[in-house]
Amino acid sequence: MVTRMTDFLIASNNAHKVEEFKRILSPLGINAVSAKEAGFDLGEVIEDGSTFAENALIKAKSAFTATGLPSVADDSGLCVDALDGAPGIFTARYGSEEFSDFERMAYLLDNMKNVPKEKRTARFVCSICCMLSEGDIITAEGVCDGSIAFEISGDGGFGYDPLFLAPDGRCFGVISAEEKDKLSHRGKALRKLSLLLKDRKDLI
Ligand code: IMP
Repeated sequence: MVTRMTDFLIASNNAHKVEEFKRILSPLGINAVSAKEAGFDLGEVIEDGSTFAENALIKAKSAFTATGLPSVADDSGLCVDALDGAPGIFTARYGSEEFSDFERMAYLLDNMKNVPKEKRTARFVCSICCMLSEGDIITAEGVCDGSIAFEISGDGGFGYDPLFLAPDGRCFGVISAEEKDKLSHRGKALRKLSLLLKDRKDLI
């Protein structure tokens, strides 16, 4: 149930994102519930923004308009230096809309087969948009620098985690969920959001 101003609807149908939102926000005193838990079907949203921030706003606004509840959305992706920042805002659809996560990672590896270790730098970016009411919007961004491995490791996390190496060389597909949250783009962005919400004395 979304009942207090510290309760938010998570504007995402991605079960992995929902799990991470809850895991990160719950210890910060923010109760985030999925659309399913709140009894809504959010449907597909057309993400036609040209930045992560624009797409996060589109998602938050769409969920707020459909439900009337304070809604928090995430648009995120992987930016690879050797690919001039690609896949960027197209990360979820990279290669083909039909690809599985595994096929998408294989496609990325193939596109980077001639890129040497020192040039495989990349970053995960997460843009958060929290719509409290019409015109009352809080945004936050988190970036996690790292690099792209030469092969898939582990099966932890989701998306490109088994290919993403943190700066200390550990793969997101192998580390624990708690370790990922400490380092990740989403962890950083949601912790920033929590600080911004705490500054809003009118919400308590
Ligand atoms: P969107 O934000 O729904 O457009 O999708 C972002 C895409 O980026 C996801 O489908 C994943 O493929 C990828 N992505 C975003 N965050 C992560 C992460 O924490 N780990 C691995 N892949 C991620």
